[in-house]
Amino acid sequence: MRSRSKRRVSVRTPGGTTKVHYVSLGHLRATCYICGKELNGVPWNEKIIRGGAKSWKRPERMFGGHICHSCLSMLLKLSARASLKV
Ligand SMILES: [Zn+2]
Repeated sequence: MRSRSKRRVSVRTPGGTTKVHYVSLGHLRATCYICGKELNGVPWNEKIIRGGAKSWKRPERMFGGHICHSCLSMLLKLSARASLKV
């Protein structure tokens, strides 16, 4: 199906002509908002995402499923140090 949400791949057919095939990207993996690293503990398979408990689909810490553990620790340290100065 012709759609801009799908990736376009030019394919050479047996007849020798090149045609554009539309390939679906699938479900993209969840990444960290700050550093862009792929998040662990977050399922990316669509069948798994539909079912199952919410607590099972992302880590249950603050900003779990949005920010990775290293960025969160950095932010917590910065916020604690900023609060000490005041
Ligand atoms: Zn990060």
